[in-house]
Amino acid sequence: EGARPFDLARGPLLRAHLLRLADDDHALLLTMHHIVSDGWSMGVLGREMVALYDSFSRGEASPFEELAVQYGDYARWQRGWLQGEVLERQLAYWRGQLVGAPPMLELPTDRPRPPVQTYHGASHAVEFSAELTSGLRALARSEGATMFMTLLAGFQALLSRYTHQQDVVVGVDVANRTRLETEGLIGFFVNMLVLRTDLSGSPTFRELLGRVREVTLGAYAHQDVPFEKLVEELQPVRDLSRTPLFQVVFGLQNARREQLQLEGLELGASHAEGQIAKFDLTLNVVDRGEGLTVSLEYNTDLFDASTAARMLGHLERLLQAAAGDPSRLVAQLPLLPEAERRLLLEEFNATGAEFAEAARPIHELFERQAALTPDAVAVVSEAGRLSYAELNRRANKLARHLRRLGVGPETLVGVLLERAAGAIVGLLGILKAGAGYVPLDPAYPQQRLAFMLEDAGAHLLLTEQRLLGLLPGRAARVVCVDRDWERIEREDGANPGYETRPESTAYIIYTSGSTGIPKGVMIEHRSLVNFTLAATAAYGLRPSDRLLQFSSLSFDTAAEEIFTCLTVGATLVLRTAEVSYSVDALLEKCREHEVTVLDLPTAYWHELTWELSSWNLSLPATVRLVIVGGERALPERLSMWRRSAGGDVRLMNSYGPTETTVAATVSDLTARGDEEKVSLGEVPIGRPLANVKAYVLDSNVLPVPVGVAGELYVGGAALARGYLRRPGLTAERFTPDPFSAEAGARLYRTGDVVRLAGGELEYLGRTDAQVKVRGYRIELGEVESALREQEGVREAVVIAREDEAGDKRLVAYVVTGGDDAGGDGGAEGGTPARWRSTLRERLPDYMVPSAFVVMESLPLTPSGKLDRRALPAPEWGAGRVAEG
Ligand code: AMP
Ligand code: MG
Repeated sequence: EGARPFDLARGPLLRAHLLRLADDDHALLLTMHHIVSDGWSMGVLGREMVALYDSFSRGEASPFEELAVQYGDYARWQRGWLQGEVLERQLAYWRGQLVGAPPMLELPTDRPRPPVQTYHGASHAVEFSAELTSGLRALARSEGATMFMTLLAGFQALLSRYTHQQDVVVGVDVANRTRLETEGLIGFFVNMLVLRTDLSGSPTFRELLGRVREVTLGAYAHQDVPFEKLVEELQPVRDLSRTPLFQVVFGLQNARREQLQLEGLELGASHAEGQIAKFDLTLNVVDRGEGLTVSLEYNTDLFDASTAARMLGHLERLLQAAAGDPSRLVAQLPLLPEAERRLLLEEFNATGAEFAEAARPIHELFERQAALTPDAVAVVSEAGRLSYAELNRRANKLARHLRRLGVGPETLVGVLLERAAGAIVGLLGILKAGAGYVPLDPAYPQQRLAFMLEDAGAHLLLTEQRLLGLLPGRAARVVCVDRDWERIEREDGANPGYETRPESTAYIIYTSGSTGIPKGVMIEHRSLVNFTLAATAAYGLRPSDRLLQFSSLSFDTAAEEIFTCLTVGATLVLRTAEVSYSVDALLEKCREHEVTVLDLPTAYWHELTWELSSWNLSLPATVRLVIVGGERALPERLSMWRRSAGGDVRLMNSYGPTETTVAATVSDLTARGDEEKVSLGEVPIGRPLANVKAYVLDSNVLPVPVGVAGELYVGGAALARGYLRRPGLTAERFTPDPFSAEAGARLYRTGDVVRLAGGELEYLGRTDAQVKVRGYRIELGEVESALREQEGVREAVVIAREDEAGDKRLVAYVVTGGDDAGGDGGAEGGTPARWRSTLRERLPDYMVPSAFVVMESLPLTPSGKLDRRALPAPEWGAGRVAEG
């Protein structure tokens, strides 16, 4: 009955039905449209019905006199009164109050917001104890505020914590019966007021309450402007997915609803639970004197029941703390009930695992495997196969040779080698010599390679003859795996057994640096060993696997491929050296070598999925596991994968910055029939690997609730030692772990924004200007600073944006000129072609912008900051760089 619509054009807008349940038991259903009634009207209606029933049942006439005014009179009066100066004064208040208000409250929803708002709803209620209630009453009294203001302050504080917004807008309704004549009328008098509270400047709860008090009093003093008039006046951006001006509502009622009495009848109200939510969230509090009944009505297309229940728990916890000590900072008020805190900090991170080999260096794990399966094939390359025994023998010889040249513990060796068996021998040889390796990509410009060798203070460079030209006269000492092999071959092939400690450096990998200089991440054996054993278990790798080595050696994914494979007794299949790798070539390789495991950059997997699906192809049947990682996986690509290409191939999403040793978390994305994971929106990145910890924290380093976005901090065995020779930067990114009892435990601040949803982490974005373009990690600041050093460049901004094909590419916005600028608009030599070619001498190809836009000046926001959104789309040239 309640769901049946009214015909607004024809009416009636009130329906009554009497249901006979038994001779002496009836239910009267009264259904009315809000346009003719409101909460106050219900009281009037109830009282008048009782009086009329009394009179009529006694055969008497109506006891009421004709009303002096009707709703229509009120409407006419309002229209006449509320105009000109009166209206203008009120509107001026609201314009001032709402200028620059955020268009929306970005609530963390459980599901993606439907493009058109739905009104499916439910509600959840809790009781606040008498103790908390009296605490809140006392707080209100001592601050000269009302219960309404106190609860609203708590609610707005909660919303701010959920959204990380400091400008929080909530709607409230007022009865609007400010004149005696209207008190007895039935009709739509209620009005919605927009209460906007500023939570910036890290206020205490007391300060916040003061602000809410001012806002509320101001709003009440200007409550006569009907909400629809305000919307008309302010012209907020139209968005069908949400209500304008506010999406969240708060209300407080006193419980003294009079008990209706009818002679000869027993009367009771039965509340019809509406399955409707007019707003995203509506918090309704009923003050029963002793305690408070607090109910949250929520849109069920956005929120789960469990989320609504948790929200009320957070509100209660926050109010308790605020009532206990209003001088606490709002940003630091605790939200989490004990059980949720334990879940987030402990249960989610109960990853402890004892690995017997944890304290051994990584190459000893390989040696143990070589002793177990000496004849198994370790490496397959264009040049043929290498057995475990042979690979081990060669690496041992190289290790001894390097030792003679002074390589040993805590020395570093640069590795400039193409993907070939020699490179695998090289890495193992360096590790066995007790040193760490620094991979150098032959595709990088000379300047960058020279910088890395120099910065690392590499003792020696391991390369091959034909690559020597890439580094003329730079490295102190060079060993060529080909040219010098005859000499190396004469060494003893037995395991050398040089001592390597768990905390010795295994490798250093350089990543883009925001200040313009790449930084070297130092990974120790213990982290690499923990990762290798944890990943092998998580992926379920086995000796029968043949894994395609896909990644360039200069990314840590290569370490994942090589060490998981060679410590479990599986076979590493090396792909050819060419830079771009077509899907055809990949499939051919998989077929030829009966590859079982692929470890692909997410960007490549996107392409693979698209191609397989478009051409109706499938992976060779031998492929049983695909691991992806490196950047946000597209949900629509995952659906595509599941529908076609993927079939029953197992799919894992691995996440991790270089600083946390390849991967910190893993999610199994294999379809489970329910498809739930995709409909949730983002593709999950999973849970922490063995002995790794993952915390989602806010800017006060406090854990955020389930579902709420925060920065991901990673701890445990995964952490790098730090950045090579950058103690300041190391201290900034590796901070003390406040949740660990272990002395000296640290957390790495990833800069990634994530949230916990459905028991797994979800990747949402970055806190900074780091981007991924086709899987490559790029600090925009590094590109900008290289660009600013170019001739004729006065100011430069670089962003990543999608081109017409939907691929992400770098675009540089350049303001040219200087004092010497001629009349022709740009300084000598300052052309995009010149910039591009000089940048290529210094940056890897993937960091060179694909398009340049020369501008007179950069667009600024009203507050004088760069307005990134106003940067125009470029003319996309043909500058697409090759896949790596
Ligand atoms: P890198 O150090 O090159 O491995 O880059 C690490 C960064 O890549 C992370 O901090 C994330 O921003 C991003 N990333 C890595 N793996 C994933 C993933 N599976 N999903 C989303 N982003 C990822
Ligand atoms: Mg990574």
